[in-house]
Amino acid sequence: MKVHNFNAGPSVLPNEVLYKASKALIDFEGSGMSILEIGHRTELFMNVLDEARNLVKELMQLDDEYEVLFLHGGASTQFMQVPMNLLENGETAAYVDTGVWSYKAIKEAKSFGYVDVVASSRESNYNHIPKQFNIPPQSRYLHITTNNTIYGTQWQTIPVTDVPLVADMSSDILSRQMDFNKFALIYGGVQKNMGAAGATMVALRKSILGKVTRKIPTILDYNVHIENGSMFNTPPVFAIYISMLTLRWLKDQGGVSAIEKLNEKKAGLLYSEIDNNPLFRGTVAKEDRSRMNVCFIMDKPELEEEFLKFCKKEDIVGIKGHRSVGGFRASLYNALPYESVEVMVEAMKYFSLKKA
Ligand code: PMP
Repeated sequence: MKVHNFNAGPSVLPNEVLYKASKALIDFEGSGMSILEIGHRTELFMNVLDEARNLVKELMQLDDEYEVLFLHGGASTQFMQVPMNLLENGETAAYVDTGVWSYKAIKEAKSFGYVDVVASSRESNYNHIPKQFNIPPQSRYLHITTNNTIYGTQWQTIPVTDVPLVADMSSDILSRQMDFNKFALIYGGVQKNMGAAGATMVALRKSILGKVTRKIPTILDYNVHIENGSMFNTPPVFAIYISMLTLRWLKDQGGVSAIEKLNEKKAGLLYSEIDNNPLFRGTVAKEDRSRMNVCFIMDKPELEEEFLKFCKKEDIVGIKGHRSVGGFRASLYNALPYESVEVMVEAMKYFSLKKA
C-alpha cells in the first residue's frame, strides 16, 4: 500500500529501489549476509561505492577533474566543512542569502574568515531570488543554495562568475540539467533526490583544495577523503547502497534530461491549478518558482486544517507547509509519480468546488 508522498525530505523513493533494498536487507547478492552485515572494505561493498560515485559523475557529466565523495554529517556539516577547507583566514567568501539553509551556511562560514553577503531576500521572507548583485573578484568562492526547500524558490539561472562557485544542491540535485562542471564544489544530503538519509554527497574539483594554511582536522579534510576513496572511516553503507540504487533507477529513466522533463510537467500541472483555482495562491515570485517544492496558501486560512484532513483521506501526505511560511508545500522530487500530482490537483478542484 502506497500513499501520495509529498514529504520535503526524507521523501518518496522509487518502488523498485525499496524492493531491491528489502531483498538486500536479508541476503545481499547471494552472500548469505545482509547488506547491513558485510564489511565496508569487502569487494561487495566497494563495488557499490564505486558504482555510486561513477553514476554521480556520469549523470552529472562531470569531467575527470572531479572527485565524488559520500560522507557523514548531512549538508549541515558542509556548511562548516566548505569554509574550513576553502576559506583562508582573513580572506572573504561571498554568499547569497536565499533562505534559512543559506543563512545557516553563512553563520558557519563566519568562524573561518570574512563573509560578504552579496544579496539577501530575508526582508521579504525569502519569497524571491535576488537578481542584482556584484561578486567581489577577490572572493575565495561564491556560495548559493540552488533550491530553497522551505520557501519554494529555485535559481533558474546560475550566476556567471570567475570566482569558484559552491552550491548546496540538497533539494534539487539531479532534478534538472545544468552544466555541473561550472561548479567548483557541489554538496547535498542525499535524502531527497538521491536516496535515504544518512549520507552526504560532495562533488568537487580537486584543484580548489590545498589553498588554506589552517590545520584541518583529519576527518574534515576533503583531501583525506579523496586519498582514501571515501573510505577514511566506515562510510554510511546502507545509505550509500540506497543512493546507488536510486542513481541506477535515474539512469534507467533516461537520466537527468528525461527526469527534468517529467519534473517540469509535474510542477506545471500543480502551478497551473494554483494559478487557476480561486481558493489557492502561490507564495513566491513566479519567475523563481521551484519545481521541487511547490509552496501555496489559501485565501481562506480557516479552511486549511479541513483541506489537510481531506487530503489525508485521499492518501495525500506530507503537504503541510513549513512553520515559517505556513500553508502548504508539495515536494515533487524525482521519484514522485506524475499520477500523485494528478490526484493532488483533483483534490484541490473538488475541495474548491465544495466550498464555492
Ligand atoms: N540545505 C538544504 C537546501 C536543505 O533543504 C536541507 C535540509 N532540508 C539542508 C541543507 C540540511 O540538510 P541536512 O539535514 O542533511 O543537514
